[in-house]
Amino acid sequence: MSIGLYIHVPFCLKKCSYCDFVSYVYEPALAREYRTALIKEMELYSKRLPAGDKEVETLFIGGGTPTCLSTDDLVTILESCHYHFHLLPGAEISMEANPGTVDVEKLLAAHRAGVNRLSLGVQACQKRLLKLLGRIHSFSDAVEAVQAARQAGFINFSMDLIFGIPGQEPEEWRYCLEQVTVLAPTHISTYGLQLEEDTPLWQEMQAGKIEPCSEEVELKMYEQAMEMLKTAGFEHYEISNFALPGYQCRHNLRYWHNLPYLGLGPAAYSYLDHKRFNNEVSPGKYVHRIMTGELAVVEPEELPLCTSMAETMILGLRLLEGLDLNAFAARFGRQVEEVFAGQIRRLLELGLVEFGEGVLRLTHKGLPVANRVFVEFV
Ligand code: SF4
Repeated sequence: MSIGLYIHVPFCLKKCSYCDFVSYVYEPALAREYRTALIKEMELYSKRLPAGDKEVETLFIGGGTPTCLSTDDLVTILESCHYHFHLLPGAEISMEANPGTVDVEKLLAAHRAGVNRLSLGVQACQKRLLKLLGRIHSFSDAVEAVQAARQAGFINFSMDLIFGIPGQEPEEWRYCLEQVTVLAPTHISTYGLQLEEDTPLWQEMQAGKIEPCSEEVELKMYEQAMEMLKTAGFEHYEISNFALPGYQCRHNLRYWHNLPYLGLGPAAYSYLDHKRFNNEVSPGKYVHRIMTGELAVVEPEELPLCTSMAETMILGLRLLEGLDLNAFAARFGRQVEEVFAGQIRRLLELGLVEFGEGVLRLTHKGLPVANRVFVEFV
């Protein structure tokens, strides 16, 4: 079976104030070691994996900030993927990009090396909000990044936005959605801000310096996004994701359909042969293990059947089209209604899920409170 391939680039020019992703401040020397180890890791896997698991249907280079690497690093990494894996014809090759770290030359080189989808982290339009988030770019940098992407030949690009930022007004969010749709991306992701423990923004909240956004305002902003993006021609296909017809992110769809993927680079997660595993989180430890000729995997975990079923359920419910009941039964040999009878009955009574033709999905009422629905299956 073909796989999705994920490459984690664990560097950023500066850490954002809300970020709890695995990313470290970029250091050229460590980035060089990382690149060597990453290519070695590809080589190690290409010798171990059966042919089918080397067939790549989607490749996603994420982070961190992949575009803080040099053009030469990015091109070498992409060429190595082509060398060690079989990227299937028509493969989707996505790369995350921070507007503060791109120019036409870098994007042109990435496009020539096969990247056919860009994901730009825009997050907000207002200077004050970008500053609060600790972003290194302005909204005009994002506009310039879009122009550079078009010049480099990209047609397919996504923009990430955040709502529910402390002090953000619904009018500012509306303005941001308008400004972004004017730039005509093919895909937009909108995420409610999570104040993750121990991040600088969380500490400011603990110290009483900022007020978190209220649930009502956050819900209003989510409703605004659904309404405005629908009007602009985007299809709402996953809780946080909207796409023009034909431009859904195929790599992320693999995650939501709970299909196999291989993650390379520090902290990258994989799901292969019903086992979930992740790499060493620290770039130093990752480099060391790979360069001694072993994989950098930490504790592979064989997933019990009940966990696999619950994960498939939760991931499938993230999709607006819902969980395919026949696919679930074919995969596990049991009906969803039998495995999760109690949970489904409760959620139906609350009006948070509904049955459609061959599917179980979240209702309009269930969408904004999806996490409360998912807790039922954990
Ligand atoms: S650019 Fe993304 S990964 Fe890097 S610090 Fe900011 S939020 Fe985190």
